[in-house]
Amino acid sequence: MTTPQALDLSLLDEDQRQAVLAPRGPVCILAGAGTGKTRTITYRMAYLAQQGMINPTNVLAVSFTTRAAGEMSDRLKRLGVGGIQARTFHSAAMRQLQYFWPQVVGDLPWKILPPRERYQLIGRVTRMATIEPSKDNVRDVSAEIDWAKATLITPEGYPEAVQRFSRKPPAKPELVAKAYAKYEELKASPEGMALDFSDLLAHVAGAIETSPGVAEQFRQQYRTFVVDEYQDVTPLQQRVLEAWLGPRQDLTVVGDANQTIYSFAGATPDNLLNFSRTYKDAVVVKLQRDYRSTPQITDLANEVISKATGRMAGTRLELEGMRPNGPRPKFKAYESEPQEAAEVAAQILKLIRRGVPESEIAVLYRINSQSLALEEALADAGISYQVRGGEGFFDRAEIRLAIGELVKASRRTDLPDDPVQVTRAALAGIGYSSQEPEGAQARERWQLLDALVGLVEQQVATMPGITLTGVIEDLQQRRANKQPPTVNGVTLATIHAAKGLEWDAVFLVGVTENLLPFRHAIKAGGEQLEEERRLFYVGITRAREHLQISWPLAKNPDSPANRKRSRFLDGIVPSLQASSGKSRTSRAKACRVCRQPLSLAAEKALGRHEDCDGGMEEGLFRALRSWRAQRAKEMGCPAYIVFSDITLTNIAESKPRDNADLLSIPGVGPMKINNFGAEILQIVSSHGA
Ligand code: ATP
Ligand code: MG
Repeated sequence: MTTPQALDLSLLDEDQRQAVLAPRGPVCILAGAGTGKTRTITYRMAYLAQQGMINPTNVLAVSFTTRAAGEMSDRLKRLGVGGIQARTFHSAAMRQLQYFWPQVVGDLPWKILPPRERYQLIGRVTRMATIEPSKDNVRDVSAEIDWAKATLITPEGYPEAVQRFSRKPPAKPELVAKAYAKYEELKASPEGMALDFSDLLAHVAGAIETSPGVAEQFRQQYRTFVVDEYQDVTPLQQRVLEAWLGPRQDLTVVGDANQTIYSFAGATPDNLLNFSRTYKDAVVVKLQRDYRSTPQITDLANEVISKATGRMAGTRLELEGMRPNGPRPKFKAYESEPQEAAEVAAQILKLIRRGVPESEIAVLYRINSQSLALEEALADAGISYQVRGGEGFFDRAEIRLAIGELVKASRRTDLPDDPVQVTRAALAGIGYSSQEPEGAQARERWQLLDALVGLVEQQVATMPGITLTGVIEDLQQRRANKQPPTVNGVTLATIHAAKGLEWDAVFLVGVTENLLPFRHAIKAGGEQLEEERRLFYVGITRAREHLQISWPLAKNPDSPANRKRSRFLDGIVPSLQASSGKSRTSRAKACRVCRQPLSLAAEKALGRHEDCDGGMEEGLFRALRSWRAQRAKEMGCPAYIVFSDITLTNIAESKPRDNADLLSIPGVGPMKINNFGAEILQIVSSHGA
């Protein structure tokens, strides 16, 4: 090459180079996580531009998020190529529509439907369709309409599609279809058109498909297309892409079907997997060498995804870790969620002291509400952090509203003394109930409120006698203690928001049944369960060197140990878990249910494997807890000082008959027997009677 800024192709491996050097035309890179897909397409564009084979201004590169698109532009500039447009589908469509609208539609004005107006409109059509227009229903109807439009499903086709795609709409499919039809009808008015994001895409495709003038003008401008994360393209986005291309075939796509994690929103890897059938002359490159992660991490990723079933599983490639050996991934069970968060914060401090920059550390989880415990723990440890793709817990609208409700309740004089009871009652007014609701939006909101109730329960347990005013002060204090978000701090993010990114150290937390896999996916099974497995795979493969996977056995230090580690760890943890050999003598060595050895610290404390059925008697457990609350109050100390929840669980399961039985329970020593032994034995025996 002759240009002064010649690309150094030796920074690529042979397979990557093949993709970069392929002549203009259809190219598909089908490869696993961390194999350099994003790097390869960046080099391909830069190379074609430097060779004069493409004009950078004729290239449109599409990425999944604005951030990823920005990152691609930056990398191209660093490689010495400017002028390539890197955008998301939406931002590209927005610009194009602004340009073509006058030619296609004329003077009729249009605007993007502002979120508030859209929300009101959906509220209206929800009511018109005789669906109860509660906040949650409106949001769920909104999500269903978005999904249907992304999947190219009309209102008429919606009820059948609900079946086919196992959707869980908030009301009868026929009613949601009616709301959808009304929404489409009312959006347009003679004074102008209001478009939602899907309409933007549909109008661009429509304009190019139906107006030869527009098509020609557009194709004069854009001749070469590149799409990253192609496995998560929706049918509507695919339609736009096909309109852009017209009869041309100058398209490079990269993706990994095993990282499809947006099918709930309509994404499908079909176009990626069918690429060589659609384009007979396609150059298809498969990459296997993983440059991101150590072999220890790629081994684990391979093992996790090897258990996948279904179509995408057939496309799997074994990752080969190219980096030098690193530490083995760690697996940890913790007694409770706050304990897990505190331990993770402690580990992060250790890493920082060893020189790992904060910006190279991430804590990843399944749902937004999980950030609460982590934010608290990081703030306590003085570690700066940023919550990616969402606000922090106390900044969320739901939580601000909920605290407002508590303040209102605290001004009333007719309410009971128990802050937990009052909190539940006050939050009932904004949709909180004892039962987790159906529907994605309703669930997310419920989980946030439930996390807040859990926090109040914890306050009451650790600060006996606290009043509602005290609770509110404490919540406001916690909020005020939060450090302002820093861009270079530790990243907290959902796994979804972590797609395509990488860090030196990754902590995957809350890896339990009902979270990863998520409850609704367990219920639905099949494809939805597989999507959860892929999500786990995406999470694991974000780590370069340090990876820790952990799960709490209970929600709070004083709630029952009823959480189980994720099924995705079955057959993986025991084989990788080195028996540490340094267990404390007071801890059980064998499971009292199956008699097999115990290896995890938290299981040793519990005296059984967490997934062995301990035969817990709920009534006895409740009796023990209220005894403990009473005792803690008398002693003026937190409840867990009397007995931890794990110990109470253990007692409620093993039903000791005498002091010797009691002594064999981890966490019960001579001192506890002396102080509480007689009372405990009394409760157990009266319960058996
Ligand atoms: P994902 O599936 O997660 O999006 P990806 O396949 O797009 O991953 P990249 O992000 O492009 O992977 O690359 C992963 C890491 O490996 C990056 O840090 C990248 O710079 C590095 N890398 C890629 N190819 C090579 C190579 N040939 N030599 C050295 N490092 C490389
Ligand atoms: Mg990538």
